Amino acid sequence: MNYSLDTKRHSLAHIMAQSVQQNFPGTRCATGPFTDDGFYYDFDFGQQEFSDKDFKTIEKSMKKIISQNQDFQMFEVSYEQAREILRLMWEDFKIELVDMLESGKFKNTEKISGKISFYINTGKWGNASDLQDFIQEKWYFNFSEHLDGDQVRNLKFIDMCAGPEHVASTSSLDANSFKLARVAGAYWLWNAENQQLTRIYAFAFDNKADLDMHLNILEEAKKRDHRIIGAKLKLFSVSELIGPGLPLMQPAGMIIRQELEDYLWSLHKSRWYDRVWTPHIAKEALYECSGHAAKFGDELFRVQWKEDKFIMKPMNCPHHMQIFADNQFSYRDMPVRYFEPATIYRDEKSGQLSGLTRVRAITQDDGHLFCRVEQIKDEVKTITDIIKEFYTTLGLTNDYWVSLSVRGEDKSKYLGTDDVWKIAEAALEDAAQENKLPYKRVEWEAAFYWPKLDFMFKDAIGREWQLATIQCDFNLPERFELEFTNEKGEKERPVVIHRAIAGSLERGMWVFIEHFAGTFPLWMAPRQVRLVPVADKFNDYADSVYKTLKDSWVRVEIDDSSDSLNKKVRNAEKMHINYILVIWEEEVNNWSVAVRNYKTKEQSVMKLEEFSEMVLSEVREKSL
Ligand SMILES: [Zn+2]
Ligand SMILES: [Zn+2]
Repeated sequence: MNYSLDTKRHSLAHIMAQSVQQNFPGTRCATGPFTDDGFYYDFDFGQQEFSDKDFKTIEKSMKKIISQNQDFQMFEVSYEQAREILRLMWEDFKIELVDMLESGKFKNTEKISGKISFYINTGKWGNASDLQDFIQEKWYFNFSEHLDGDQVRNLKFIDMCAGPEHVASTSSLDANSFKLARVAGAYWLWNAENQQLTRIYAFAFDNKADLDMHLNILEEAKKRDHRIIGAKLKLFSVSELIGPGLPLMQPAGMIIRQELEDYLWSLHKSRWYDRVWTPHIAKEALYECSGHAAKFGDELFRVQWKEDKFIMKPMNCPHHMQIFADNQFSYRDMPVRYFEPATIYRDEKSGQLSGLTRVRAITQDDGHLFCRVEQIKDEVKTITDIIKEFYTTLGLTNDYWVSLSVRGEDKSKYLGTDDVWKIAEAALEDAAQENKLPYKRVEWEAAFYWPKLDFMFKDAIGREWQLATIQCDFNLPERFELEFTNEKGEKERPVVIHRAIAGSLERGMWVFIEHFAGTFPLWMAPRQVRLVPVADKFNDYADSVYKTLKDSWVRVEIDDSSDSLNKKVRNAEKMHINYILVIWEEEVNNWSVAVRNYKTKEQSVMKLEEFSEMVLSEVREKSL
């Protein structure tokens, strides 16, 4: 039987809980879901100490449980019976869950239907456990209507669990496919006023090879952490006084950011987009009309002015709609395309802010285009072309895929009528097919307003990133009553396509810093060339080389310190400078430079003109 990875991960969470209760008797279980790379389980260890030093013990007994081919079996009881069983097991947290399920406070209530499910692990191996004695003495009465004698005799572990699914037997799991990752504190029900529990995180994959690959990626990712590289190369800073989540661009970081922005604009300009500009605040009424005020709630930064209430903009869309609305467009003007790299503000929780990953000021490379339904396909093609060109330049298009994110089963959770959604979803799917995009339909992933195409790219170490997005929206034009005049002289409502190529400049920089591990392609590198004269007497020549390159807009600097040659080269390498030019007597005499390529480690001597031409063409071509 082939089980999904999520099923395996969740089953392993049960096995971890069994192992924890075996090794730390009296430990109480809270909840244990699967995650993107494994699973976790929250425990209350009571007075017992638990740390990562105990990982080996837990892993060992988990492997043993797997080797015992324990079965997973389910039985269902009423709320009252569930509480009775859980009281005997001292599982207070689960009792609270039952209470919440019964009172409808729990989000999964609709799936439960008045029954509580338990999963038991049974196996005929090993000595009778305390659990079995306990069951036979005290629980048999309770279980006799659900379990037969054999099941009770062989019972190893019991857990209340709403699913979703478990493997039928632990023999379907690879004992070497998981590894405990870390211990963290976690509040019961995510509420800081509740008791703090011990959360054990684990990695889990289908097999050992996949697990090893993931561990390697994590190891490699640590070395590429953009916060570490950002500090080392002085790309950006975070100031206590300015506040968390509000990173500042240092000159070197600003070069990367500006190069990305310029490149993005050039890709749009050649495809007939217009630049627009919008202010950073707007009246609250704008976002009430767009629905964002309700959607973002307390994430909005509110600004009180003399008369009106303003909001720091959380989205650019409503602003661009107002620009469109102030024109009397006809069908001949369609599509109308606006582009604006614009900063938006959202009050994220301070605990989640870090580097460029979670920020309060995000600059989207935003754009909106207004078109007719029959123009959607062509427009999606144009945007797809931009996306492909941009990410091919950055070396990220190997093995990418596109998520066609559509509504889930419960259509009431989305804004807008069923008809409009059907048209929008079909338009994007047609466009994806016609443009031969490697797409998959993913349910429940649509935004609250509209369906979208999300582009997933793999970086240099195989991590997947969601970056570009194309979203097809029939709702906002309705809310803002946008229209243009069609061939018959009637008013027609346009469709709006929201699109972002890099997602945001902050997210883009984060991904690209880590993808390139700080050694950027020359066109976006903040420090392209450093001149290293080996003695003071060559400084004059170094100066003239500097001027020549500077005149061609090359980003060049001179190290005329009194450090040794080795030290100077090491210092340049620490800053990942693409080309280090060493200058000796010979270079001075021949009007040449001794070139060290930081990335390839190649060394060569060339005429200054030749070097300058090489650098300029590398920048022009945006070579990798
Ligand atoms: Zn379960
Ligand atoms: Zn938008």
